[in-house]
Amino acid sequence: MNPNKIMLLAIVIIILFPNVVVPQNNVKTKKNNINMKYNTLTAQEEKVIIHKGTEAPFTGEYLKNKQEGTYICKRCDAPLYRSEDKFDSRCGWPSFDDEIEGAVTRITDKDGVRTEIVCSNCKGHLGHVFLNEGFTEKQTRHCVNSISMKFVPKKDKNLVSVYFASGCFWGTEYFFMKAKGVKHTSVGFMGGHLEYPSYEEVCEQNTGHLETTEVIFDSTVTSYEDMVRLFFETHDFTQTNGQGPDIGNQYLSCIFYSTPHERDIAQKYIDILTKKGYKVATMLKPASKFWKAENYHQQYYENKGTKPYCHKYSKIF
Ligand SMILES: [Zn+2]
Repeated sequence: MNPNKIMLLAIVIIILFPNVVVPQNNVKTKKNNINMKYNTLTAQEEKVIIHKGTEAPFTGEYLKNKQEGTYICKRCDAPLYRSEDKFDSRCGWPSFDDEIEGAVTRITDKDGVRTEIVCSNCKGHLGHVFLNEGFTEKQTRHCVNSISMKFVPKKDKNLVSVYFASGCFWGTEYFFMKAKGVKHTSVGFMGGHLEYPSYEEVCEQNTGHLETTEVIFDSTVTSYEDMVRLFFETHDFTQTNGQGPDIGNQYLSCIFYSTPHERDIAQKYIDILTKKGYKVATMLKPASKFWKAENYHQQYYENKGTKPYCHKYSKIF
């Protein structure tokens, strides 16, 4: 049968039987459709996981993560590494001296020098593995891009996630991540109407999101009251048009509460400050979906080794 006849037959079949499955190579699929059984990746994630790129050193979200839990594949959710095998190699990327059995495949690079590591399940790029460097007894360093993984913390009923917006999230996170009893922080966006907002989109100031920090604390060590006090003591909660030099709706002061208990405590401190004579501009809003910001925003000052320009600690309580 000549190609024209095949094409004509295909068209007739599609018209008569719209539900028929047409072989993949006859249909122009969008690139993303190829990965349909996997999680949708952002352009930044694709650059590393699909196109084997490397995130900049000392920028990844999990570089300094010390929580107990499991690191899973960003693309297919397969468990890859355990927190027990993570160590600090000071190389700028999360390092592990062992993998979950069978989870990671080693492939020698074309130059024959380095060994690439990929997820055994989806073949997504993870990073490289290096041997005999003397870091740990296992003499193995899996040097993994944070962006290739997702971290699933070990279930702990004492851990509580709370959300604060107080201007540029780099500065908000800087103080919370150092606070006693805080296990983990991440920065992102909350309160807007757009799904998967990017930093650039939020900066256009029409998505309704506020730059927000997620704080996970251990309730046996600290309390929500401590967190609320720290929130008020690390920014100017009387500023109505932003925070410090950062002017715009995304920089407004807001406590996103997840429970009536949190709302009551936040209100209690707003009342205390009002009685002290402050004109509190902080908003109280119910927490909504927290959208994590791009990797390079995470733990920004800690990774850069610098200090915030927009936030400082001033004791009030
Ligand atoms: Zn995978």
